[in-house]
Amino acid sequence: MTNPLYDALFAPHAQSAAPFTQAPTQGTALPYRDFVAEVARCAHALTQAGLTPGDRVVAQIPKSELALAIYGGCVQAGLVYLPLNTAYTAEEVAYFLSDSGAKLMICDSAGQERLAPVAQKLGVALMTLGAAGTGSFADAVAAQPARFDTVPRSADDTAAILYTSGTTGRSKGAMLSHDNLLSNAQTLQDYWRFAADDVLLHALPIFHTHGLFVATNITLLTGGSMIFLPGFDLDRMIENLPHATAMMGVPTFYTRLLGDARFTRDLAAHMRLFISGSAPLLEETHTRFEARTGHRILERYGMTETNMNTSNPYDGERRAGTVGFPLPGVELKITDPETGASLPEGEIGMIEVRGRNVFKGYWQMPEKTAAELRSDGFFITGDLGRIDADGYVHIVGRGKDLIISGGYNIYPKEVELILDEMPGVLESAVIGVPHPDFGESPVGVLARKPGQEIDTDAILKAAREKLAAFKLPRKLIVVDALPRNTMGKVQKAALRAEHAGLFA
Ligand code: ATP
Ligand code: MG
Repeated sequence: MTNPLYDALFAPHAQSAAPFTQAPTQGTALPYRDFVAEVARCAHALTQAGLTPGDRVVAQIPKSELALAIYGGCVQAGLVYLPLNTAYTAEEVAYFLSDSGAKLMICDSAGQERLAPVAQKLGVALMTLGAAGTGSFADAVAAQPARFDTVPRSADDTAAILYTSGTTGRSKGAMLSHDNLLSNAQTLQDYWRFAADDVLLHALPIFHTHGLFVATNITLLTGGSMIFLPGFDLDRMIENLPHATAMMGVPTFYTRLLGDARFTRDLAAHMRLFISGSAPLLEETHTRFEARTGHRILERYGMTETNMNTSNPYDGERRAGTVGFPLPGVELKITDPETGASLPEGEIGMIEVRGRNVFKGYWQMPEKTAAELRSDGFFITGDLGRIDADGYVHIVGRGKDLIISGGYNIYPKEVELILDEMPGVLESAVIGVPHPDFGESPVGVLARKPGQEIDTDAILKAAREKLAAFKLPRKLIVVDALPRNTMGKVQKAALRAEHAGLFA
């Protein structure tokens, strides 16, 4: 009997002395074999807590190797791993606990008091794991044997439920099978040429697909190593870059590195690969990064429900402002959002994807699953895009962010690209705000460059030269920074709510 994910990601390293994670500046490392033993101890501790195959384990814990061992322990014991954003409040956690029907939650020791009443009310057992590696779950793990009889699973069994980021509405639990996760890791390993001698600089959170599945699963599959930082800290990034071969980041990682004079061509010269995703990378960031380091950032596109769908090429041209080509094994088409019919090349429409990477469905949301996952296997991503004549996929924005003003479609990105070029503008977000005559009207929110002033009248005048009148923002609002979540995603729903009364 087999367990596809355990057999590919964890079992092969049971005897390996190679470092799974390392802290080169401190001269320490966690050997793979110790990590795999910790995975087995977690599997025991979880089983001892009364969980049986198929049960969900909720984890809202600080980033640590033990947190990854809990993921591994769930896989080995046939449980369903369900990590949560560490920023979620007790009230938000209550939704995820009751929605998932989890029997056990492992929380940060610091959050125990806050969460205990919620867990008790819902009949969920609560164990703790703090940043220092202490807590009731850590104690339970320490007492266990280092070998565990792996629970057999089939390729289609659910390995994890990952909740979406909640950018467009309430988070949905995406059920990801062993095969969804394994096939995508295999594809990405090949496409991005990851190997055992790679050292990945890991500063992403591990409750999201980017840091958990893309980064960690690739590392486990190849037997490479990670410099596993608790989060993004400029000093520690700069200090550790010389020891890494590859880095994965959200766009804000790259803008923050570029904002530091210590981030030089020399510092990055030895690096093999810089990857960006989770939110759009501005063309300007791409260009500045190349000018500074000589490296072209490789941008890719994915989502909780599908893992990764497209990527710029490793060898060919990495084209700024695009997310590259559909990955091998991923079919991607652009369809009419109303009819679902395929659109001719170059036209903007709904991005749909199909492949082994596409999830099984939303947990306990059969209607939503039926509405977004077609019976022929294509998933309606909710992102609008187009494919250019060379086959590169361009993301135009989210379907839900499309503005319909006086019956005309306005794609925010088209307007944002023009506003971004204006003097003093660091970046922009164009949103639709309810309007009595037009239904909706476009409004531009502009983040100013540090220390610079923005002349909104001059910008509107200049934009008028470039944009059809109906696309011109009715109003420009200047802010210090756009609201973003931990994954660097601009929170347009929050901006819409904030400015909803503008034309009332
Ligand atoms: P929710 O589905 O709950 O509204 P979400 O879609 O933000 O939240 P995630 O699954 O974390 O949750 O994010 C996936 C989305 O992130 C994609 O659908 C896409 O809109 C965006 N995205 C990811 N990578 C890129 C990229 N390289 N360029 C542009 N957008 C990207
Ligand atoms: Mg989404």
